[in-house]
Amino acid sequence: MRALVYRGHKRVEIENVPDAQVPAPDGALVRTTNFAICGSDLHGYHGPVNEERIGNTMGHEAIGEVVEVGPEVRRIRPGDHVAVSAVVGCGRCEQCQSLITARCANSETRVLNLGQAEAIAVPAADSSLLQIPDGVTDEQAVLLTDILPTGYKGVRGADIQPGGTVAVVGAGPVGQMALETSFLFGPSKVFAIDQVPYRLEEAERLGAIPIDASQVDPVETVLDQTGGKGCQHVIEAAGPQATVRIAFGVLAHGGTLSQVGATTDPEMTINLMALFSKDLTYRVGLVSPQYAWPELVPLLQEGKIHPERIFTHHLPMSDGPRGYEMFDNREDGVIKVMLDPTR
Ligand code: NAD
Ligand code: ZN
Repeated sequence: MRALVYRGHKRVEIENVPDAQVPAPDGALVRTTNFAICGSDLHGYHGPVNEERIGNTMGHEAIGEVVEVGPEVRRIRPGDHVAVSAVVGCGRCEQCQSLITARCANSETRVLNLGQAEAIAVPAADSSLLQIPDGVTDEQAVLLTDILPTGYKGVRGADIQPGGTVAVVGAGPVGQMALETSFLFGPSKVFAIDQVPYRLEEAERLGAIPIDASQVDPVETVLDQTGGKGCQHVIEAAGPQATVRIAFGVLAHGGTLSQVGATTDPEMTINLMALFSKDLTYRVGLVSPQYAWPELVPLLQEGKIHPERIFTHHLPMSDGPRGYEMFDNREDGVIKVMLDPTR
């Protein structure tokens, strides 16, 4: 089968790899019909060469059709049209049973890094797959595998109160999901901080106040516009040290910072002493997509959110390497790239 394979610094190639098989008695084989590229894929793509990962399939945001299931699978059937959770647990422990797969007690919690291929061997199928319900489009279902739940986790973690002030740091795909769902909780103001003008324009269309960190000091600007107080609810949706600093900087005393951006820099530091007087709450962690599905599916079905607006590019899988390059360089107004494995 064909897959997008990691080959080194800024090198992803389309290659033939061994066919995916049903992985275990509780697993399923899914033939993919669409998948997307995530900001998380970019960490490996543009980071230093990771010898251990060379030859690995990329990606974790796929939908498709179930071809075969193992003998222990109960809920999922061949022929089901499914979204594959980016985060997969054992499916049996207390945490997985509570849908918080990111805290699985039995497996090193794993992001399912197999998604950009013609087929995927999905472990713990009953826990990892969502049967795509009526009223949810394929584009929306791809977003349910990871980044819509991730942005929503950021928002839920920030405990937004009606009338509260919100800042979302990073207006990439995850930031866009956080911005859109933050409005469900009745904030008085939502600031969007980024440095890519067209992403800020997209945030402004949602009703957010754009702040271009390449033009102004974002912390000073937010303080100016909040009477010197800062925001009570801050969502960090980028990951680098610079954006984490901005996120703490714009946070009001007594506020809550919810970080979903993945910090990959091992030298990252936080000056807790300087933050002591803020009396703040800080949450950070990996998403459990399953946990958010029961809340997000009805919002999509009722047309309360339209996250599919972020798909700016649809490309055949054979153009996957170009999709990576474009997404990484933020060329051509790109926010989110969808790939079609049949082409
Ligand atoms: P992305 O790289 O497209 O988005 C990041 C955005 O932050 C970009 O628009 C960029 O311009 C902006 N940015 C970067 N540095 C900045 C700076 N100094 N000042 C202002 N803006 C800056 O990626 P994405 O797909 O939106 O993903 C965002 C992050 O979320 C990534 O770190 C990804 O790994 C992470 N993620 C986490 C989870 C989770 O489970 N917590 C799930 C999915 C993705
Ligand atoms: Zn992802």
